[in-house]
Amino acid sequence: MTTVLVTGGAGFIGSHLCERLLEAGRSVICLDNCSSGRERNLDDVRADEAFTFLRADVRNDLTAVLRDGSVDPDDIDRIYHLASRASPADFEDHPLDIARTNSEGTQSVLELAATVDARVLYASTSEVYGDPEVHPQPESYNGNVDPRGTRACYDEGKRFGETITSVYHRQHGVDARTVRIFNTYGPRMRADDGRVIPTFITQALDGEDITVYGDGTQTRSFLYVSDLCRALRAVMAAPDLGGDVLNVGSTREVTINSLAETIRSLIDTDSEVTYHPLPDDDPQQRRPDISRIQVAIGWEPDVAFEDGLRRTIQSVRAQRD
Ligand code: UDP
Repeated sequence: MTTVLVTGGAGFIGSHLCERLLEAGRSVICLDNCSSGRERNLDDVRADEAFTFLRADVRNDLTAVLRDGSVDPDDIDRIYHLASRASPADFEDHPLDIARTNSEGTQSVLELAATVDARVLYASTSEVYGDPEVHPQPESYNGNVDPRGTRACYDEGKRFGETITSVYHRQHGVDARTVRIFNTYGPRMRADDGRVIPTFITQALDGEDITVYGDGTQTRSFLYVSDLCRALRAVMAAPDLGGDVLNVGSTREVTINSLAETIRSLIDTDSEVTYHPLPDDDPQQRRPDISRIQVAIGWEPDVAFEDGLRRTIQSVRAQRD
């Protein structure tokens, strides 16, 4: 049986990925320090015999962490490295933690991969493009990041993570591929982590003001989490993507104003839209060029935006009940 390690497996994306991997018959080791992930995200998989949860920081010596958890490190075939806080609200509160998780933590994962000869998928981000001057963003665009900005802990942390991932590929022969994940949404996003979709849904359900930052003309492209998991698994499975980097995201670009209107109409709320100062370093536009992943593995998004929003609203409602 293929054994897969998922770092950050108790987080929003990681927990969905663990579920999909178990459904596909994999043995899954989920490693998370639960700084932003939550053990309750794993409620549906905990009882599965093929699932192991290890509460540990990815910066630790992972060979020792696995042994302490009664896992033989040599059993690990594949590693999805997702561990990192990813919410802009955390960029202000935990900048060092974020920078170190993506630098030291990524090195620690790559060391493990080199030792046990495992294939790695590194979860990078569209944030490596910063506030992009090229639109849409292809992988060949090197980005526009302020190294001293409030988002730099994440943006530069992920950029450094990409650097050492390619070093371990070139110099140590690690079969590592990188994906740049654009905005993703779906059930299990934390309502309190400041990200726009769970924030707007919660505000609309509560009948409170919907807080648009800036003038709301900034854009994002939102991908539903099941589409992302499908892409991650296919990129991992492809034998010839070692050393490569691929954008994963939706090409449907929406303004934050139109997102607010869509959520208002889907929830049928009396909430009013109110305008607030734009946070520092907030990118004005973002949309991936996904031609590379389309050609490499034939992937494209499947879930329509309104359908994904309906499912997310339903899950927020269910959680509140
Ligand atoms: N945003 C907003 N109101 C909120 C939260 C976020 O208008 O209550 C805006 C935010 O300024 C940004 C966009 O929504 O322009 C997406 O923010 P999010 O934090 O979800 O993701 P990121 O900025 O990392 O793409």
